[in-house]
Amino acid sequence: MRRTLERDNFSISGVAPGDVLVASTFIHPTRGPVDCPAAPVASAAMLAPGLRVGHRPAPPVGSGDAILHTVSYVDPNGTVVGLGVAAHRDDGLAVRRAEEVVRSWAEAMRTRRVLTAATGPSCAGLRREAAMLAKVAGPAYVLAGRRDVPNRWPHRDVRYVDQVADVPVGATVVLPAHGVDRRTRAEATDRGLPVVDATCPLVTHVHDTARRFADEGTGVVLIGGAGHAAMPPIAGAAPMAVVTTVEEVDELVVDNPDRVAFVVSPGLAVEDAAVLAARLRSRFGRAPGQHPDEFCYSASDRRAAARAVASCSDLTLVLGDRDLRDTGELAATATATGSTVERLDDAGQLRPEWLAPAASVGILVATSARPDLAGEVIEVLSGLGPLSITRRQVATEIRHAAPARVGTRRAS
Ligand code: SF4
Repeated sequence: MRRTLERDNFSISGVAPGDVLVASTFIHPTRGPVDCPAAPVASAAMLAPGLRVGHRPAPPVGSGDAILHTVSYVDPNGTVVGLGVAAHRDDGLAVRRAEEVVRSWAEAMRTRRVLTAATGPSCAGLRREAAMLAKVAGPAYVLAGRRDVPNRWPHRDVRYVDQVADVPVGATVVLPAHGVDRRTRAEATDRGLPVVDATCPLVTHVHDTARRFADEGTGVVLIGGAGHAAMPPIAGAAPMAVVTTVEEVDELVVDNPDRVAFVVSPGLAVEDAAVLAARLRSRFGRAPGQHPDEFCYSASDRRAAARAVASCSDLTLVLGDRDLRDTGELAATATATGSTVERLDDAGQLRPEWLAPAASVGILVATSARPDLAGEVIEVLSGLGPLSITRRQVATEIRHAAPARVGTRRAS
């Protein structure tokens, strides 16, 4: 690809002083039409006080009082791809800036492999929630219980509320996949609101198991990840202690050390839960708990997919709100593999110095990322050199072995 890389300047018209034109396409005099899918990164780089950045097809090249700085290459399929940024000749600062932006992105152009992981908000429980939301006529009020829950379904009229009191009279209230506590469920019913119960069956099972242990007079310990949405509803299902660290297990005080059982909150990777369960058993003997075929493996699968992608990537891009826990956890998983990691919540934040040395780029999507962000980033990367895309997915399958048939054969 780099053998076909070519940088040129052309005169064009139609760009006033103070304006910057970032071309969505331009016509190269010898190469013909040039697509510019990476234009958003050039637009972001040209933003500066006093400059008005526009994004549109460039006028024909040949004459005019503006300079169009370009880079272009020929894709293996014969398509010409590149970047073009123009500014008025009298606008020396903008012209130099345009040249610098095109030069720096030209250095980042290379043949590249993109690896994506199925790490978005799309576990079986959330897909079920989405399917139920799709059937709600009018706005659906989802009881999120927290204000920082991103809108997972922005293309639908979904409104996240903290409490039942925030739902207008007659509107449909949706119990989310990660469940609500018994009091909240009762409030929704008492108000006579139409209720759609999208609680994930795996979450319901944890609630039921905790209640069963409690009804038997066993002290219940909830093993979970701090801050996960499923935790408060489970903790409200029955009297129970909550542990999120080994230290909390060590400090746990129970009424009867001979009668302790545990349940595991979805959202915690099973390998992390196993460490806490083992510690619990080292303190309280047998300590019964859920069977492994009753766990939610979504967090473990997600982490395994993230690790698989990052371990094969020179650079891993973690998409989502930089400050949220989920983004940080994905970034930590990727960093542990030795990959260079960058976080971003907009494609315009990509940097040429990140991409220039990266022949393989992993993309991990945090739950807070806009649903279309991964597609936007891949679109930009497709304008920075020939691209192949591989998707990694890890899915744990639970299989129940048939009981062995013993003694069914007679010796002859
Ligand atoms: S329990 Fe697992 S599958 Fe169900 S909603 Fe939670 S993370 Fe998704």
